Amino acid sequence: MRVFVSADMEGVAGVVRDEQTDPAGRDYPLFRRLMTLEVNAAIEGALEAGVQEIVVSDGHWSGTNLLPDELHPAAELLSGYPRRLYMGEGMGPGFDAAYFVGYHASSGTRDAVLDHSGADPRLVQEVRLGGIPQSEGSLTGYLCGYFDCPVALFTGDAAAVSQMHQFCLTVEGVVVKESLAHQAARSLHPELARQRIRSGARRAIERLDNIPPMRLEGTVELEVDFVRTAMADSCERIPGVRRIGSRGVAYAGEDYVQIYKLFLALVDLAQAATS
Ligand SMILES: [Zn+2]
Repeated sequence: MRVFVSADMEGVAGVVRDEQTDPAGRDYPLFRRLMTLEVNAAIEGALEAGVQEIVVSDGHWSGTNLLPDELHPAAELLSGYPRRLYMGEGMGPGFDAAYFVGYHASSGTRDAVLDHSGADPRLVQEVRLGGIPQSEGSLTGYLCGYFDCPVALFTGDAAAVSQMHQFCLTVEGVVVKESLAHQAARSLHPELARQRIRSGARRAIERLDNIPPMRLEGTVELEVDFVRTAMADSCERIPGVRRIGSRGVAYAGEDYVQIYKLFLALVDLAQAATS
């Protein structure tokens, strides 16, 4: 059995403010370690459930947060940026389950810790598929679904977990903190959070038959509303991408891998448009 782990940082127990997740931040070394240990807890749960092969994708900032020498030796690490599928890098045919660890809610979610969609809260206001607002979790969940792989485990703050349940009701959700505000939370002790992630990871494999892959059928319309008009000005130049409204662009396609990659590229272009 093979498991794909995608790791983000904002949803790790104890993380509440942006600078804690910023490589330039004073406390970043502590929080990257806590992120690594939460990923390890998920790996341990998977191994207990009989999983033999684990691939971990580092999906925060420039994808170089997880400490390679402290990561569980059973896992292979995919890190660095830019890379084609970023937080979904490594996903492809042959995985039985995906775990999303340390994830957060979409931009604009109330009562969520560090809610944002795609790289930076100053870039994307809302991203939609077929008119329905999405999160990084759902966007990456559909990438897994494209390869027939269910998102079996999702960990993060309470708002992020309940948002993911709207996309797939039976995902094993592990809540490690409750938001008190955008940059404030009441959090479990990291050790307790890791215990819950470990048992959640094991349970997710045990009840895998009840967790369907997230799928999109037919032509899919991607719409991205940026924070600033200049970002849409830059992105609408790509062939096939249309302007919608003052801040938005859209693209319709049948191949979800292409749509996922396009979203990542649009976010990078939007970032470049701010400089
Ligand atoms: Zn993120």
